[in-house]
Amino acid sequence: MKIDVMGVSFDDLTMDEAVARGLELAQGDGFSYAVTPNPELVMMARRDPDYQDDLAGAQLTLADGVGILYAAKILGRPLKGRVPGVDFAGNLMARMAERGLKLFLLGAKPGVAERAAENLRAKYPGLTVCGAHDGYFQEDEPVVTEIRASGADVLFVCLGAPKQERWMAQHGPRTGVHLAIGLGGSLDVFAGTVKRAPEGWQKLGLEWLYRLLKEPRRIGRMAKLPLFLCQAAGARARGE
Ligand code: UDP
Repeated sequence: MKIDVMGVSFDDLTMDEAVARGLELAQGDGFSYAVTPNPELVMMARRDPDYQDDLAGAQLTLADGVGILYAAKILGRPLKGRVPGVDFAGNLMARMAERGLKLFLLGAKPGVAERAAENLRAKYPGLTVCGAHDGYFQEDEPVVTEIRASGADVLFVCLGAPKQERWMAQHGPRTGVHLAIGLGGSLDVFAGTVKRAPEGWQKLGLEWLYRLLKEPRRIGRMAKLPLFLCQAAGARARGE
């Protein structure tokens, strides 16, 4: 089932259901891509119809963060739960390792994807990371060719928004992978260059606050959350 939150259609799935769906797409024929929008990206889509199209083209749209859950509740159509992109990716990799599916990592500063690959191979024994490339390339075609030659089944695209969604929509089908997933800053987390909030904070839905305390420059981005929730309340009042 899909639930509309301010113009973006989210899949109403628990983490386990999302992982099962991701695995199905990764083993399917053809090409699919998944997106993990947070409130900031939903607001970006409201201003930019091209970006909205890129999000709408995804076969799997997961609610990254509590802000989307709050908005869905305000709108009177609650979602089952949040499915943070980085956790979804972790659970999917564990299942990919069991099935021998191959993963390519694209994005972040030079060296980060390679370091992430090393850490992920150690964390998920049996996982095949068949390639890695940084996210600061000038030409798309050589990167597409490299991914295709790797024979990857799944591609993590970590170029930040809106670049990663555009890239998946435009170039994804030619990479030969079955599933591409836009995952923002996840490679920095997997490489250990950015630390996640302790689990207690995550459970309380306070990961955003931890991130803000660590990186105060994010305040401009996060200040948009109250505005987003007000817009959701306005939409509810108008009966949208
Ligand atoms: N990035 C990239 N190429 C670019 C711009 C950004 O690979 O042209 C990477 C950047 O190094 C970082 C990620 O994209 O690893 C974006 O991280 P951010 O924290 O902004 O994403 P979020 O998780 O907040 O969406």
